[in-house]
Amino acid sequence: MSNPKKSILVAGGAGFIGSHLCDALLTQGHRVLCLDSFITGSEANIAHLREHSGFSVLQHDVIEALPGGLIVDEIYNLACAASPAHYQSEPVHTLKTSVYGAANLLELARRTGARILQASTSEVYGDPEVHPQPETYWGHVNPTGPRACYDEGKRAAETLFFDYHRRWHLSIRVARIFNTYGPRMQPDDGRVVSNFISQALLGAPLTIYGDGRQTRSLCYVDDLVHGLMTLMDTPGRAILCNLGNPREERVVDLARKVLDLTGSHSPVEYRPLPVDDPRRRRPVIERARRLSWRPRIDLDEGLTATIDYFRYALRNIKADASQRMGTGPIRELAPI
Ligand code: UDP
Repeated sequence: MSNPKKSILVAGGAGFIGSHLCDALLTQGHRVLCLDSFITGSEANIAHLREHSGFSVLQHDVIEALPGGLIVDEIYNLACAASPAHYQSEPVHTLKTSVYGAANLLELARRTGARILQASTSEVYGDPEVHPQPETYWGHVNPTGPRACYDEGKRAAETLFFDYHRRWHLSIRVARIFNTYGPRMQPDDGRVVSNFISQALLGAPLTIYGDGRQTRSLCYVDDLVHGLMTLMDTPGRAILCNLGNPREERVVDLARKVLDLTGSHSPVEYRPLPVDDPRRRRPVIERARRLSWRPRIDLDEGLTATIDYFRYALRNIKADASQRMGTGPIRELAPI
């Protein structure tokens, strides 16, 4: 059989990328066990899957030993807060999530013979001195700064993956994920795309940190999920690969684009640049291209879909808030 149905564990499956991955794996007919602590993952992201016969959920923090008796064919490890605001709010927990979480899942892979994929990050390159960033670049990370709990945690997790591969011949994949955006980002997670879209739709000033000339390369979530599945399905014992969209955008240009696409008249407001904020970031994706993957959704198309989602999500948030305040039902709220 060319596509045998598998049992697949998605750690962090109720998160932004994880929930889209669960959708795609279920569409292919696999059984999916979503494991999530629900610290930054949300029930709403997977509510539509609750009745699906191939889908189950286990509330568990990967820092703790996994329950016995789990048998799986594949493991995707996406369990970690990923927005700078969230991962810096509980830095010790962030570091433990990356390191202990990877160790616990690698042990499960060793016991069951499962193939395992680590969601790593472009943050392993830090504030890069090589541009754009190929997988062969070792990075430029401040090990004691406020981003280190995430950057160094993800770097240590990569080390664990490669040591398990060398020591126990595990079949591993490490995907270095560059900035990703799309529906199910949390409106308040503090990232640039979610902030700008929420601010534009609510008529609030768009907050540009620094002078806005720093760059990021933004990949739409469907492309990214397709990339993760491509990596998992590619034969080989150890694969390290960047996944991202190489189109590079200045933050200030992104703000203009969001204003344009939302039709918003929000002003922009300049704020101090966060400590250790990388100045530029763009993936070299030649390795991924050789696996026949490339991003297909352009920024305008992806942002339009994301804006549509935020119109809906923000309306629900406003409705919840208004109901909590006892000021009436959804239909009484002004459309965004
Ligand atoms: N940023 C910004 N305004 C915001 C949020 C972020 O100018 O409201 C900037 C941030 O300083 C960084 C870039 O946008 O240079 C991307 O930030 P994000 O938090 O999305 O992710 P990062 O790539 O830094 O992990």
